[in-house]
Amino acid sequence: MAEAPTYQSLYRKWRPQRFADVVHQEYTVRTLQNAIISQQLAHAYLLAGPRGVGKTSIARILAKAVNCANPQHGEPCNACDHCRKITKGTSLDVIEIDGASNRGIDQIRRLREEIAFVPAETRYKVYIIDEVHMLTNEAFNALLKTLEEPPQHVIFIFATTEPHKVPLTILSRCQAFELKLLPPERIAQRLREVCQAEKINASPQVLLTIAHRARGALRDAMVMLEQLASYKGTQKIEENDLFEIMGLASHETVQSFLQALLQKESRRALEIIGDLAERGKDLELFIDELIEEARAWILARLDGQELPLPVDLPTLIELSRELLDLKREIGRAWEKRVLLEVKALELTQFKAPSPSPVTEEIQPTAPAAAPTPKLKAPRPALSESTSPDKWTRLLEEVKRDRRSTVHAFLLEGHPVETADLLRIEYDLKNSFHKEGLEKHAKYLEDVVRRVYGEVRVEIAWAGNARDQSDVSARRKSKSAEIREKIKLIQEHLEGEIVNP
Ligand SMILES: [Zn+2]
Repeated sequence: MAEAPTYQSLYRKWRPQRFADVVHQEYTVRTLQNAIISQQLAHAYLLAGPRGVGKTSIARILAKAVNCANPQHGEPCNACDHCRKITKGTSLDVIEIDGASNRGIDQIRRLREEIAFVPAETRYKVYIIDEVHMLTNEAFNALLKTLEEPPQHVIFIFATTEPHKVPLTILSRCQAFELKLLPPERIAQRLREVCQAEKINASPQVLLTIAHRARGALRDAMVMLEQLASYKGTQKIEENDLFEIMGLASHETVQSFLQALLQKESRRALEIIGDLAERGKDLELFIDELIEEARAWILARLDGQELPLPVDLPTLIELSRELLDLKREIGRAWEKRVLLEVKALELTQFKAPSPSPVTEEIQPTAPAAAPTPKLKAPRPALSESTSPDKWTRLLEEVKRDRRSTVHAFLLEGHPVETADLLRIEYDLKNSFHKEGLEKHAKYLEDVVRRVYGEVRVEIAWAGNARDQSDVSARRKSKSAEIREKIKLIQEHLEGEIVNP
């Protein structure tokens, strides 16, 4: 019987229909296949793992394999009526439920009522509940009752990206599998197969780049390939297309940025960031690319291979660590570009910047004219003594440690000192600095101890800032302020940095 041709996305079209076609989940697949062959099926399975690695595909293959009229070595035949219906999603006995949109107790109650009935056509009723961790507590409780006394003809397959959110009472009644992210080589290999069969013209290098970019999720890789293929038609997909369409920076840009960092070329680093930002590139992806390239350089160094520039292993490892820190920070940062710029400055300055282009009294036109630290007088508070000397020394100590980010954050703070406490207060408009400093709490404690001895450190709002809470206004002024500061830093650098 002929079926009308319908458009299918590459991912759907190439979705595995047999266990043998599932990429990189060998342990899970073999265990399930053995259970089918030996007819020792569990009543509930849990497939946990990141998105796009094959959870739903495996669930459907399992549903087919247990119901197939002619199974072969635990594989579904994909030709019998049952297999075909399940593939098409029209089987009455394989029910897929999206936990995210059917979270409530009503759905689970209905499910419990239906479960009592034997399957209409097949051996097993299979319930596939995707994103099962999204169910409400009541729904879980209702489900639990079913799992405690499961009818012989029912199999549950739960899928989740967040197994830690599934109650233990449910987990303990499932046979659980953890699916893995796919290594880039496996993804690239699959993409090559797809390209060959679909007559997609793409270089191996492009496929490898897509594979890396997909971060272990085959589905994401397929979607990218499809986007590129539909953009290029029958033309060959070049690496350049990838950068244009995916918002990626080119490999040369990534290399040249790393070189700028290692060779302490602040200006070049900032130019690259500016250029990427202006062309609308995703800076978070850029950092991912930097991390990957730095890792490749480390591996190359370990193998004794040539690198684009002479650099030792400890330096590369330190650079990777900094980039990973940056990635953690940038995920939360509202102003990615600035954070990247500040980091680039921190990493490229063989000499810490003279501290003061960033205080609020400074005029944009005269940053270089203020080579000495220009500190705000600490606010006298609570009649306690304040000692600007210690604060100044603290700033110098931070500079000596070459922690120019922390230095910049501290400059906006007002020290309030008591015998056993150093409180660094921030005005509301400087919340970026306050938040930034909070991320370096450990280092801060350490450096404060060196200067002040054993005192407690507190990072707090200044008295007048505590009452204000208009976040959006704050953000806006913050944004403008930070831009201004970066401009100042840049201008400042022009007169300051001397390339070795
Ligand atoms: Zn079959």
